[in-house]
Amino acid sequence: MPEEKPHILLVEDEMHLARGICFNLEQEGHRVNHVESGEEALERLKYDRFALIILDVMLPGMDGFAVCRNIRKMDAKVPILILTARAGEGDRITGLASGADDYLVKPFSLSEFLLRVEGMLRRSSWYRPEPVEEGYRFGDNEVYLLSYRARTAQGEIDLTDLEVRMLALFFQKEGETIPRHTILETVWGYASDTETRTLDNFIVRLRKYFEPNPAKPVFFQTVRGVGYRFSRSARE
Ligand code: CA
Repeated sequence: MPEEKPHILLVEDEMHLARGICFNLEQEGHRVNHVESGEEALERLKYDRFALIILDVMLPGMDGFAVCRNIRKMDAKVPILILTARAGEGDRITGLASGADDYLVKPFSLSEFLLRVEGMLRRSSWYRPEPVEEGYRFGDNEVYLLSYRARTAQGEIDLTDLEVRMLALFFQKEGETIPRHTILETVWGYASDTETRTLDNFIVRLRKYFEPNPAKPVFFQTVRGVGYRFSRSARE
C-alpha cells in the first residue's frame, strides 16, 4: 500500500453520496476511510492521522458542528471541509466558527468538490514545525505561525492550517491591499474565478480573535470592491 497517498476521512451518513465521494476520490489516487457518524469519526481520530477530513453537518447523533469542535480539541491543524445541506449564511458562519476551514453546500458539482479537496490537500503538506520562534505582534496580540498558536486579549488560541496561511500572507503584505482572488489562490489554492463567501467568513473569524472591536476592525480592514488589507499599526 503506497504510503504517500493522502489519507482522507469522510464522515457522511448518506450511503449513496458517500459511495460516490469515495469512488471519485479513489479515482484521483486518494485513500479514503468512510464512517457514518461523528462518534465513529472521533474514535478513529484517536488512532489515525488524516490529511483531510470531509464532514457532513446533518448526521445521526452528534451533528457536524459539534464533531468539528471536538476534532479541533484534538487537532488544531487538520484541514476540515464541511458539507452542508442548508444554504443559509448562518450555517456557514457556524461551520467556520466551529473550526472548519471551508464548506460546500449540497448539492455540489463533482468538479468543484475535487478542486476544493486538491486545494486543501496541497496546503496540509506545508506544515513544518520549528522549536523556537519569535511572535508577530500587533495590538494586544502575538501570533506564532510556526507553532500554530496565538496570544490574544481573550487568551491563548490554537490556529488552524488555513488561519496560519492567511495570517502569513497578511503579515508578509502588511499595509498592502490584497485582492480577493490573490487571497483565495494563496490560502485556499482555488482558481481565481471561484465564487465563495468563505473568505469573508474567515475574516469575521480573524476579527473575533484579534480585533478589540470586531464590528469596527482596525487590523483586518475591508477594501471595498477589492479585497482586504492588514495593518499592524491599528490606524484607520
Ligand atoms: Ca447527512
